[in-house]
Amino acid sequence: MFPKGDDFFEKRTKRGSETLPEADQDCGILPIFAGGKSHFASYIMPTLTVSEILRQPKVGDIVTVKGWVRTFRSNRFIALNDGSCQGNLQAVVDFEAFPEELLKRVTTGASLAITGELVASQGAGQTVEISVQKLEVLGDCPTESYPLQPKRHSLEFLREIAHLRMRTNTFGAVMRVRHAAAFAVHQFFNDQGFFYLNTPIITASDAEGAGELFRVTTLPADGAPKKEDGTTDFSEDFFEKPTNLTVSGQLEGELGAMALGKIYTFGPTFRAENSNTTRHLSEFWMIEPEMAFFDLNDNMELAEAFCKHIIRYVLTHCQEDLAFLDQRLEQEEKSKPQDQRSGQGLLEKLQFVLDNPFVRCTYTEAIDILKDSKPNKKGQFKYPIEEWGADLQSEHERFLVEKHFKSPVILFDYPAKIKAFYMRLNEDGKTVRAMDVLFPGIGEIVGGSQREERHDVLVEKMQAVGIEPELLGWYLDTRKFGTCVHSGFGLGFERMVQFVTGMGNIRDVIPFPRTPGNAEF
Ligand code: ATP
Ligand code: MN
Repeated sequence: MFPKGDDFFEKRTKRGSETLPEADQDCGILPIFAGGKSHFASYIMPTLTVSEILRQPKVGDIVTVKGWVRTFRSNRFIALNDGSCQGNLQAVVDFEAFPEELLKRVTTGASLAITGELVASQGAGQTVEISVQKLEVLGDCPTESYPLQPKRHSLEFLREIAHLRMRTNTFGAVMRVRHAAAFAVHQFFNDQGFFYLNTPIITASDAEGAGELFRVTTLPADGAPKKEDGTTDFSEDFFEKPTNLTVSGQLEGELGAMALGKIYTFGPTFRAENSNTTRHLSEFWMIEPEMAFFDLNDNMELAEAFCKHIIRYVLTHCQEDLAFLDQRLEQEEKSKPQDQRSGQGLLEKLQFVLDNPFVRCTYTEAIDILKDSKPNKKGQFKYPIEEWGADLQSEHERFLVEKHFKSPVILFDYPAKIKAFYMRLNEDGKTVRAMDVLFPGIGEIVGGSQREERHDVLVEKMQAVGIEPELLGWYLDTRKFGTCVHSGFGLGFERMVQFVTGMGNIRDVIPFPRTPGNAEF
């Protein structure tokens, strides 16, 4: 850990009048000192990030900073960005003091090391700038072939150059916010006494029973060994049985909860569902808490507190990036037809979610609302709601959240038929203690339930959906040995990042998205 605070800066910066070394032979690249007004010994020159400099500007300090050129104006002003924050550091070059050949290499995208004095800025837009005394081009960037130019690029175009897009303002902001959100996840659960549990990524179980699995195998793609009946002989495979990438860590998470009390996972999950939507990835990150002795109500409270914590954390710690994203969204909204605009800015929306309790509504109430709704009566839903038991589509969820309640909603007590086998059956025999948290612009962000803790009921439910209880003997053991009421949920991390950044497409909140037909980079 670095020491923090003033002390830290003192140690890494040097003021005053140490003598200037004759020439910096080690560096090998054009060490140039302009004016000779500041004298320093290069070996103590501290390297600071742009964020450190802008956050705590120390006018008069001599510092070194390294980053990439965003723009170079008038042969004088370099906007230097090092990714540490949204802001650029303005570096002012006295072009007469530097060889023309060197300045020509200061192009957008080139990496530089700059040493100079921090001075109060004359120009608008920054309080401090660096007066360049030494300039080194660390890596050239040919203008003709560099795809990122200082202008607005479409998100679609940037998706094709995802290996470079994190250098843009938008993706820099999104990735920093994503980091902060991930940190908030760990902070929340740690503070609440949860343990971070790592569940397997390769597994032989399919938690959802949905069959949208990526097979993991070392058998040859051509000519896999066959059994006598013509089916693949998995005994020859690496794990001697069929395995796949996990779709959820829940089942193993429950085992953790039944030992440690409160656990959470935070890891990648994989679904081979052919959903080409703005809210589905084939590889996404999920956070799955599982809690012994929590009923559905406790589960809903936790989910709400958790979502709010992440939002509050990024609002507090990512002000600059969120302000940028807020502006970006405002621009984007302007290009949309009036009736498709959300009417709320990003910051406003985040604050709204923080300030208001999530509406809680049973599935049955929701169906009544939807049945009676205008779009249903006018035939505007692609899937009209006719009767109780219908699965809710994203259009229905969004109607409830964005038009009817105008607030995040927790729907609960769903029909057993449309939910997974492990959810706790209610006394009515037809609904289960399931809950989905629905967010404006996103739809489902959290899916969870109180788990069926009764051994015999669980076995029956498995059989009803064709899962052989013997295959999940280890899961059933928790119901045999000290079973208890318990609950959990899964939050799709990218959907949360979408919400807090206001990005419309989930492909733009993960560095390298995997979607059907796309596994570039
Ligand atoms: P959906 O109906 O939106 O496909 P789901 O019901 O399949 O979601 P769950 O199995 O309950 O979702 O997973 C828990 C959470 O994981 C969801 O609430 C969502 O936030 C997220 N999630 C699910 N599928 C995806 C996906 N393909 N890409 C990104 N996030 C996802
Ligand atoms: Mn799904």
